[in-house]
Amino acid sequence: MISRRLILGHGAVATFLLPSVPALADKALATVAAPVRPPLRAGALPVVLLDPGHGGKDPGAIGVSGTYEKHVALASAMELKRQLEASGHYKVMLTRTRDVFIPLEDRVALAQRHGASLFVSMHADALLDHGVRGASVYTLAEHASDAQTAALAQRENAADRFAGANFQGTTPEVARILASLVRQETRVGSARMARSVVGEMGRDVPLLQNPSRHAGFVVLKAADIPSVLVEMGFMSNKQDEAALRQAAHRTLVATAMRRAIDAYFAQAGGPRAPATRMAG
Ligand SMILES: [Zn+2]
Repeated sequence: MISRRLILGHGAVATFLLPSVPALADKALATVAAPVRPPLRAGALPVVLLDPGHGGKDPGAIGVSGTYEKHVALASAMELKRQLEASGHYKVMLTRTRDVFIPLEDRVALAQRHGASLFVSMHADALLDHGVRGASVYTLAEHASDAQTAALAQRENAADRFAGANFQGTTPEVARILASLVRQETRVGSARMARSVVGEMGRDVPLLQNPSRHAGFVVLKAADIPSVLVEMGFMSNKQDEAALRQAAHRTLVATAMRRAIDAYFAQAGGPRAPATRMAG
């Protein structure tokens, strides 16, 4: 327990949540970079891009007993990577493999640059209501499914406040239009992956009520890569935080996510590379 605390907690004991900052989502949604896909080799394994949330100067949520979300996210993603690679069915990449800050834009760009077939962002955020617990999964939408998710997306998107002043902005109107351009096929894929995660997680891990939700998460805005954000639990809840500090529980969560990814690709006709990107 003590060594785990050293790994996850960095000794800092804090009982506060990150302050709410005006969402940068709308601005960031407008900076959709033109994806550059490397040519796919026949028989190449599909690339699964895992995105451990936060990192470096951005700790993410800080748990009720001082656990940093960024450490939980990375430890969980590393375990999921290990399991996916062991299956031999995927090429797995991480947006970060150490405690370093990466802007949300760069995470999406990385997925596009590597021709990812699936993007999975992993988090354990905080909610204002400390009584709320359980895992949940989020997809991109112009309008949030509920107020709790809207607040969550706002805090998540605010990670870019650590990125400095060179943030490219635009009007909310333009951002809305761009968000609506996320392809129908991508939306369908993301929704299918979300259902798969809920189904598999529900077997082993407590779920949030209405566990499949949506909002304007910046990190899910790749127009051509099915993307989900998984909240493995909430740092603001004592039980969730305690569970996510345990390697055994993170393995349980990763195993459920691995099954969900298997199910996702199985439904798509087996692990395979995505269709070539359409022009325009
Ligand atoms: Zn987070």
